[in-house]
Amino acid sequence: MMAAIAAAEQGARVTVFERQARLGRKLAATGNGRCNLSNTHTDLSRYHGEESGFCRSVLEQENTVRSLKRFRDMGLLTVENEDGRIYPMSDNAGSVVDVLRFTLEALHVRVNCGCPVKKVNKVSGGFLLGMENGRETADRVIVSCGGKAGGKLGGVGDGYRILEELGHRCTALRPALVQLRTEGTLTRGLKGVRTQAQVYLRHGKRITGMERGEVQFTEYGLSGPAIFAISREAVQKPKCVVSLDLFPEMDTDELHALLKWRARTRPGLTLDDLFTGTVQNRLGRVLVSSAGLSGGILLSESEHLLRTLAERAKDFSFRVTGDLGFDQAQVTSGGICTREFDPETLESRICPGVYACGEVLDVDGDCGGFNLQWAWSSGWVAGSCAARSGGKC
Ligand SMILES: Cc1cc2nc3c(=O)[nH]c(=O)nc-3n(C[C@H](O)[C@H](O)[C@H](O)COP(=O)(O)OP(=O)(O)OC[C@H]3O[C@@H](n4cnc5c(N)ncnc54)[C@H](O)[C@@H]3O)c2cc1C
Repeated sequence: MMAAIAAAEQGARVTVFERQARLGRKLAATGNGRCNLSNTHTDLSRYHGEESGFCRSVLEQENTVRSLKRFRDMGLLTVENEDGRIYPMSDNAGSVVDVLRFTLEALHVRVNCGCPVKKVNKVSGGFLLGMENGRETADRVIVSCGGKAGGKLGGVGDGYRILEELGHRCTALRPALVQLRTEGTLTRGLKGVRTQAQVYLRHGKRITGMERGEVQFTEYGLSGPAIFAISREAVQKPKCVVSLDLFPEMDTDELHALLKWRARTRPGLTLDDLFTGTVQNRLGRVLVSSAGLSGGILLSESEHLLRTLAERAKDFSFRVTGDLGFDQAQVTSGGICTREFDPETLESRICPGVYACGEVLDVDGDCGGFNLQWAWSSGWVAGSCAARSGGKC
């Protein structure tokens, strides 16, 4: 949609072919229905793929400030939260879809929904697009079919096939920003509990990832923004362990001292209430039971157990057994090889006249609005460059 708007603003006659019955189905579901559409801390370090510098020029040409100004001009007011995440002021992802739709209409962009493109063929002077019920010709084509993530919302991976058929190469595809499955049934009992934690990803003795933030316990394992942040690494490393430090503000000695003070001042309570007031009650109880201790032990008789419990709360560990797959993932790690595209214009070096933007390329961003910012930035650059004669911006 952003690519179409950019191209139409340059004066091009644009048609959008959308596989689904309406535009922006996935967009309408982003950010738990709130759409975290950008982040003020957007920079190159937030993006991953085989070619680390590929996004530089696109993010310089179309940065967060420019994209937000564009949205404002389209009628969308936004707010920023304390960690730089940007949301629509309406708190409703549907508003983002709506202002894009209205802008497409105002620019007289033709929109054909329920119309999957099956094939793109290079023909003399342009391209032939094959649909179920017919064909269309085009001078230029922008492939913006997204990735494989969020299958039920439209992540079908068609863009990879279309570009591969035009001669492009696709790197290995993996789910990223995804819930992790963990060994055992401990998390099942904590289903629905959310907590703040410092999360470490350990592979053998090495720490290969860390993030501070919210963790959610689920039936199958772990979820939440802090888990998403380490998930792209976890998915690639079999047998890794996620360790949660539930008291990142204090070291083990300090926590041990706190627990001893509690036991001293409330000797009549039991271990089940040792952590009450610090973490959710259910989590406190599971910490105790997972250390093999009975929750009924009186605090007056628990002194010798408190060090173990402090250590457990500082290292509440889960072995990762897998992930919840593309259907549950927010983004695809991997995609069409970026070396095959001009980073200034996003035009194919293999098939001139073809452009690509968004998740279909081998670019995936961190959790926090970076993936949609990539969609806006790359869409804008691909659209405006495709519309200009010769393709160069
Ligand atoms: C549940 C969920 C929540 C998310 N939340 C956030 C968030 O809050 N912030 C953030 O930054 N990112 C978020 N993301 C990631 C973000 O939505 C994507 O990275 C982004 O939408 C990618 O944009 P895109 O335009 O490349 O692809 P998409 O948004 O997937 O759009 C591609 C479109 O192409 C259509 N299409 C596919 N194949 C064909 C075909 N053959 N012919 C015609 N049309 C076709 C699809 O139906 C789809 O509408 C979330 C993802 C999911 C799944």
